[in-house]
Amino acid sequence: MVKVKEPSSKFVKVRCPKCKNEQIIFGKISTAVACLVCGKPLADPTGGKSRLKARVLEVLD
Ligand SMILES: [Zn+2]
Repeated sequence: MVKVKEPSSKFVKVRCPKCKNEQIIFGKISTAVACLVCGKPLADPTGGKSRLKARVLEVLD
């Protein structure tokens, strides 16, 4: 059985594509999340499930 890395309700570690800052965000967000360092949007809320704009490095349980 293939386990798909699909952020839904977990915390995910992402890397900002602009400044390479690593940041842990919730996989299910209700407001947009921006990079704490450079302010680049990292994820958009899309009906209860976030659309990540940054590369997911790790999915945390
Ligand atoms: Zn950044």
